[in-house]
Amino acid sequence: MTQPPILPRHMTKLGRSETFTFSCHKNVKCFTECCRMLELALTPYDVLRLRRATGLTSRQLLDEYIIIEQDPGEPFPRFYLTMVDDGRASCVFVSEQGCTVYPHRPSACRAYPLGRAVVRCENGTKEEHFVLLKEAHCQGFAEPAAHNAVQYSAEQELVTYNRFNDAITTIVQHDSIRKGRKPSPEDIDLYILALYNIDTFREKVVADRLDTIKRNESEKNCLIQDDEKLLLFGIDWLHQQLFDRS
Ligand code: SF4
Ligand code: SF4
Repeated sequence: MTQPPILPRHMTKLGRSETFTFSCHKNVKCFTECCRMLELALTPYDVLRLRRATGLTSRQLLDEYIIIEQDPGEPFPRFYLTMVDDGRASCVFVSEQGCTVYPHRPSACRAYPLGRAVVRCENGTKEEHFVLLKEAHCQGFAEPAAHNAVQYSAEQELVTYNRFNDAITTIVQHDSIRKGRKPSPEDIDLYILALYNIDTFREKVVADRLDTIKRNESEKNCLIQDDEKLLLFGIDWLHQQLFDRS
């Protein structure tokens, strides 16, 4: 029988309907403390939303705001938001008044203090697991508002983020990856292109420069004008490129 993972001391397992008390607002003493000294991992949908918040292109975000790290033991790289060198390693988007990209803040910022993992089972179903991260500096747990994991996710508008983040598990948790396949450097380039560099990916769709079934003009227009549809198309295209070719 597989043993459940041992969680760090500040994390506890949380059932879907188990309640916890928490609230974060401008009047907590620790306001914006958690926006400093952190490793903020970004998903492709986070980048799409930050692009919308900042007006920058995905290429500019990759060049100026995102650090790509490839751990030799991991199949795919990880993407982190850059922190400012201000002696406090502050997030590039934090101000004294709070988050300057709040309506488009990344999934990890919305989810805190919840952690969520999705595991794809062999029969194609998904299992969703939650943990509660209770860090000593966070005063939000002293607030009276009670939630459970499902309510809190809805309040933080995580449902849309989770939809895209879960779609990517079809790539990162693909059977061949779980069995130890290591993507080639070319595969990693395609991964970055389709998932994290949507503007360059769009240009390639427009110019029919992707090695894929050609799309008619109306299908192309629909993809070109809709970032969300383009990202979902990119996930399918990447799946095809990495796993469906002999
Ligand atoms: S540390 Fe907790 S309460 Fe304080 S700002 Fe961050 S999330 Fe909110
Ligand atoms: S994106 Fe916003 S909420 Fe997230 S760490 Fe940066 S300032 Fe804080």
